[in-house]
Amino acid sequence: MQTPGRGGREGRGAPVAAAAAAILALLPAAATATLSQAPRAELQNGSAADPPAPATAALPLPSDTVLGVTFLDVGQGDAVLLQAPEGQTALVDAGRGDIVPLLREMGVERIDLLVATHPHADHIGGMAGVIRSMPVRFYMDNGQAHSTATYRRLMTTLDERPEITYLEAVPRTISLGSAEIEVLPLLPTGTTDHNNRSVALVVRFGEFRALLSGDSEVRQLTHLVGLGVVPVVTVLKAPHHGSDNGVTAEFLAAARPEVVVISVGRNGYGHPRPAALRAFAGAGATVLRTDVEGHVAILGRRDGGYGVARGEQVASARGSGAGRTGAGDGTGAAAGDAIIGAGTASAGSAAAASHGLRLRVHADAPGDDNRNPNGEYAVLENSRGSDLSIAGWTLCDAANHCFRFPRGAVLAAGGQVVVHTGSGQGDGIRYFMGRGRAVWNNNGDTATLTDAAGATVLVFRY
Ligand SMILES: [Zn+2]
Repeated sequence: MQTPGRGGREGRGAPVAAAAAAILALLPAAATATLSQAPRAELQNGSAADPPAPATAALPLPSDTVLGVTFLDVGQGDAVLLQAPEGQTALVDAGRGDIVPLLREMGVERIDLLVATHPHADHIGGMAGVIRSMPVRFYMDNGQAHSTATYRRLMTTLDERPEITYLEAVPRTISLGSAEIEVLPLLPTGTTDHNNRSVALVVRFGEFRALLSGDSEVRQLTHLVGLGVVPVVTVLKAPHHGSDNGVTAEFLAAARPEVVVISVGRNGYGHPRPAALRAFAGAGATVLRTDVEGHVAILGRRDGGYGVARGEQVASARGSGAGRTGAGDGTGAAAGDAIIGAGTASAGSAAAASHGLRLRVHADAPGDDNRNPNGEYAVLENSRGSDLSIAGWTLCDAANHCFRFPRGAVLAAGGQVVVHTGSGQGDGIRYFMGRGRAVWNNNGDTATLTDAAGATVLVFRY
């Protein structure tokens, strides 16, 4: 159904719908000429007014060989940046607030395809700002209006930019450089709520696949599984911020993700929910969270392998090989785990770090270590601007002596916690493993910090 808010965009959408058949727009020269005034060269080199090829320059791995799928840390919300090997960019959702500075930091100066999965503020709040700040070629949504000021502002902004071509999210495949974006079928308008009409996308680059589906809940996931359109994927964006209504056993059995990325920040919904975390971990996936890691970039290779970059690595490690690549033989998840420590805690470093978290071990207690177990301790520091719940997290040595942080444990913003090996009264800053002998070897050991879902957060080797 046409809505008042979409009137202006329908006019632009009509010729696109007619041409929509197969490969749309972002690559073939002929189609591009039909759908946009922009010559193809602009996709790769920027327009005359723009600096050349900014997107390509900013990718964190040799950018002409990988598809970048970057889950931007936008707090509680979604914003996923796709960067094709040839430099084209798609942005799927734009968080709640202003993400333009973040995109600029990533070297993004133009968006070829902007997708609003559904019209909730944590997905479209930053979209008007993007449209006002940089060239956008195509805009896609599910065609469903919303009553909020945020939605109206987005529509007004789109109406001010008639050069942006509107695409409704009907099943079709869009080329983004040498990658492909397949739009999956939606439930009919008016049959369900906004979340369950999230635009769901399968992104393919050779054997590498990612599935993004906004805030889909059980109803939509069941629909997609029933249609048989859920492929086996390398990477899954956890639907609905890791809510327990954003996963089903059947959906996970179909998708079989090696990596699940949860786009989540501080929230009052309990996201991510323990049941969802258990489901992802139970499916054997490596779980990465933007509230723990910061930005998470998965760098997909044509052979299905991939690399992972996290936190500051994502913006800063340009072309340096940050993020070890996973093998193309299904061992990528293990490699993903290995990256966490390997990228930052090379031999001789004093601590392992991951997006504002630092872990170090003071292994050599004064005197006889075994008679002074509280003289050895591990320190976990949080240099981020927000508190972090570490309840249920574990800290283990190489011999699997583990300490589990108790219910309510919080690592305060800018603060630290200390885990002593011996016994004592914990106070929320100091914790005690309760052991009568030394745990940390003086001549080398491995400290592994694991979150409540069992995902490795940090590895410190010394
Ligand atoms: Zn949401």
